[in-house]
Amino acid sequence: APPESTHTATDADDVLRRVFGYDSFRGAQQEIVEHVIAGGDALVLMATGGGKSLCYQIPALVRPGVGVVVSPLIALMQDQVDALTAVGVRAGFLNSTQDPDQRRFVESMFLAGELDLLYLAPERLRSEQTLRLLDRGKISLFAIDEAHCVSSWGHDFRPDYLALSMLHERWPDVPRIALTATATQATHQEIAERLNLGGAKHFVAGFDRPNIQYRIVPKAEPNKQLLELLRTEHAGDAGIVYCLSRASTEKTAQFLSNNGIPALAYHAGLDADTRARTQSRFLREDGLVIVATIAFGMGIDKPDVRFVAHLDLPKSVEGYYQETGRAGRDGLPSTAWLAYGLQDVVQQRKMIASSDGDDAYRRQLTAHLDAMLALCETVECRRVQLLNYFGEAGEPCGNCDTCLNPPQSWDGTVPAQKLLSTVYRLKSERRQRFGAVQSIDILLGKQTQKVSQFSHDQLSVFGIGTELTEGEWRGVVRQMLAQGLLMVEGDYSTLALTQESGAVLRGDRKVLLRREPEKPARAKAPRTA
Ligand code: ADP
Ligand code: ZN
Repeated sequence: APPESTHTATDADDVLRRVFGYDSFRGAQQEIVEHVIAGGDALVLMATGGGKSLCYQIPALVRPGVGVVVSPLIALMQDQVDALTAVGVRAGFLNSTQDPDQRRFVESMFLAGELDLLYLAPERLRSEQTLRLLDRGKISLFAIDEAHCVSSWGHDFRPDYLALSMLHERWPDVPRIALTATATQATHQEIAERLNLGGAKHFVAGFDRPNIQYRIVPKAEPNKQLLELLRTEHAGDAGIVYCLSRASTEKTAQFLSNNGIPALAYHAGLDADTRARTQSRFLREDGLVIVATIAFGMGIDKPDVRFVAHLDLPKSVEGYYQETGRAGRDGLPSTAWLAYGLQDVVQQRKMIASSDGDDAYRRQLTAHLDAMLALCETVECRRVQLLNYFGEAGEPCGNCDTCLNPPQSWDGTVPAQKLLSTVYRLKSERRQRFGAVQSIDILLGKQTQKVSQFSHDQLSVFGIGTELTEGEWRGVVRQMLAQGLLMVEGDYSTLALTQESGAVLRGDRKVLLRREPEKPARAKAPRTA
């Protein structure tokens, strides 16, 4: 633990009020600020909008010397510096967008001790020239922003970040604070290792959004379900509907418009003018619904988005959290609604199988999808599950669909065995490929054209599954895909056994399934905000 210091806490309070004009710290900010002021290293995992900047800006102002901030977001540096200058903080940046004169000016300010904060692009720290410059000044702390860029897993990997492990060797007495919004615990661990932050204190905070009601419903007729949601609970509200494909954003926007709900499509295939116009209409007008791909939302700060709906399954919990997090920034009750079905699992498993990239990359995508599926299939509180995913603890919220209307779990081992046997028998017909529909038709004993064409009514499994309805069977297939007890192969979404299937067929493994509540939760969110 860092040494106790009694006087710095009041300094921090003072800076918070006097410089930034805020009355109090938010969440874990105070603890983090005090830890860094006292000279401790910190690894901060905080949701977007949680208030990461103050966590290093205040210590930089309280500690003697210049706070050096490493950030990959070169385009934002000017804005950040302008915002700080506006409140009287002396800040500058060094990056490739400057000409030599501008750079020399900032360097001389740094050397003269006339800066509080210096923003640097990571590649700057690879040059001996910059390192020697830093040697000649006094540094109060290093802040490493967007620290997940050091992780080779995500999409944001920056090789330059690897070199940041040397900060500790070169300046052993200067505290370092690494910050990120997107890391899970595994990435968190990797950041600590790669940045040489073994002794750092970890802070996880800001992921709880109590005013958002999380709901995940079985997908039947998604457009109709969406319309029902908007009419009954969100009439006249602004919101975002996310779809996977550009075509479906346009179709859905059209569908909503036809039904009297003002809606516009937004995706990367539209020209820049149209996108800008849509965006500014969304910010300005009341009650507009944007139907978008994930291209929409970055940097959009509209406080009164009352709902975020997903018509397709997001690829990861991170994505889901980020997208749903655009609801209810004003703290008022808001809805995060997702319709999810068998086809989502099939489609995403197929996309992963056919994606470019090596096995490790595909395993990574699979792990992300599995975590998302676990959230969908959970019988526990959705919010607790989300918080746990990001490494934060929580109590059942009493506000999400599973809290309001707890689903039962049931022993689905026998249906699972019936399904696996069917898949196994179909699989042995080498020339032909069959998907979920054919398996279910066989289990239900349906005499379809495709059943008689392939004499599937002759199979011993024909008609052995009439204890469940077609919808229930789809639920069984979906959950077995989610649990890795079944997989899809090839272009026709052929169902196939996995390594885990054998244990179920032999009766060595029980299969627990979730029973959808009779009446899906549609309670009004209690005013928790
Ligand atoms: P992050 O980097 O985590 O996304 P920011 O540091 O940009 O978040 O902060 C998000 C917003 O919250 C900013 O508008 C900031 O001014 C505000 N904010 C941060 N801390 C506080 C606080 N203690 N009190 C009030 N507002 C705060
Ligand atoms: Zn809950």
